[in-house]
Amino acid sequence: MELKNLPYKLYLDESEMPSTWYNVRADMKNKPAPLIHPATLQPLKFEEMQPIFCDELIKQELDNDTRYIEIPEEILNFYKMYRPSPLTHAVFLEKALDTPAHIFYKFEGNNTSGSHKLNSAIAQAYYAKKQGLKGVTTETGAGQWGTALSMACAFFKLDCKVFMVKVSYEQKPFRREVMRTYGAEVTPSPSMNTNVGRKINAEHPGTTGSLGCAISEAVEVAVSSEGYRYVLGSVLNQVLLHQSIIGLETKKACEKFGIKPDIIVGCAGGGSNLGGLIAPFMGEKLRGEADYKFIAVEPASCPSFTRGKFAYDFCDTGKVCPMAKMYTLGHDFIPSPNHAGGLRYHGMSSVLSQLYHDGYMEARAVEQTKVFEAAEQFARTEGILPAPESSHAIRVAIDEALKCKETGEEKTIIIGLTGTGYFDMLAYEQFNNGTMTDYIPTDDDLAVGFAKIPNVAK
Ligand SMILES: *Cc1c(COP(=O)(O)O)cnc(C)c1O
Repeated sequence: MELKNLPYKLYLDESEMPSTWYNVRADMKNKPAPLIHPATLQPLKFEEMQPIFCDELIKQELDNDTRYIEIPEEILNFYKMYRPSPLTHAVFLEKALDTPAHIFYKFEGNNTSGSHKLNSAIAQAYYAKKQGLKGVTTETGAGQWGTALSMACAFFKLDCKVFMVKVSYEQKPFRREVMRTYGAEVTPSPSMNTNVGRKINAEHPGTTGSLGCAISEAVEVAVSSEGYRYVLGSVLNQVLLHQSIIGLETKKACEKFGIKPDIIVGCAGGGSNLGGLIAPFMGEKLRGEADYKFIAVEPASCPSFTRGKFAYDFCDTGKVCPMAKMYTLGHDFIPSPNHAGGLRYHGMSSVLSQLYHDGYMEARAVEQTKVFEAAEQFARTEGILPAPESSHAIRVAIDEALKCKETGEEKTIIIGLTGTGYFDMLAYEQFNNGTMTDYIPTDDDLAVGFAKIPNVAK
């Protein structure tokens, strides 16, 4: 099909929705390093994970071999409430940029939680329910994951306890109330309700919290409460697996409408949306069937890929979780409080870390004022007010499209547009008032975090 004859929105029919998830690990020659036990430094066994995670999710976490995993019918039916999500041709943005590049975006913000996180939340809630559990605990940073999980738990009638990073709890009261409307119990973290929360409060008085702290608290409550397990909205292999629905739909739409992407760009916090979006394309690249340029975009203030170390580290500040081999800034890393755009996690998915280490993808770090300039331009041309996180990807897509303008190249760029920015208006307010600042940690700043990375020779 000629690109100029394309419809604006490239819809799939419901009947064209993928019925399996795709596990990119099956096609990786160098598998992601396993989670290890912090005491023994041995790969975690199924039984060792059982107190923390749901059984079926542990199986998915450990499965490096099964290429396609059936999506249970209940999950597929839930997906159909808000999926397939559209792949949209950004014709107005292209025009504004006056670029020969073709830009498309896959929008995941078309559900009440406002982001892609619901794709994994509903899967994790389903497996918890199927196992007969009472409820789940989790952390949330900006609030999207907590909202998505609250929706999923309400659907399956599960209890949901959310530890919300304190700075967001205070800055985003509306997020909190959405979660409570769906029945979740929301606690600001670090709290005084857990051992680890009390310890972190004592060591860092007045701290505004971090995802790493909130994870520690949620895990502590899960393992000490009968019938509860912990669930996580990013980073883990299982989450990337569930998010592959984004990439599978994108690939189907590309095939249906005759689009061949050159560049696929997504923001990277813990790596789940990007891992999901690129999964089937990466599979082709790994199998030598096609080539694509994949770009992970992260904030300059939390630069795990571009300036982090590839090493085993704790996944949480309180060191109650297993250790993962990943690009990390150190489990003690707490991003500057002036950082408004999400993507604050100190580490990165082991799958993406391995792929990046092996040269299959690139990464860029961008400053937040530049990110919001891109967000503004996108909102004014394409209509959607993007989440700050998603706007990192928009920034780099625009930069790539402007490069095409210089070279005259007609590249096709796909953006993972992960969510809406309705709950991020404080950040937009700072930007609109001209009070938003950039923060780039110095090498000395980062050295403090690196010094705390445990010395695991693996
Ligand atoms: C959570 C979130 C992200 C980042 O998480 P990943 O696991 O890296 O995908 C990006 N965009 C939005 C809107 C989010 O809610």
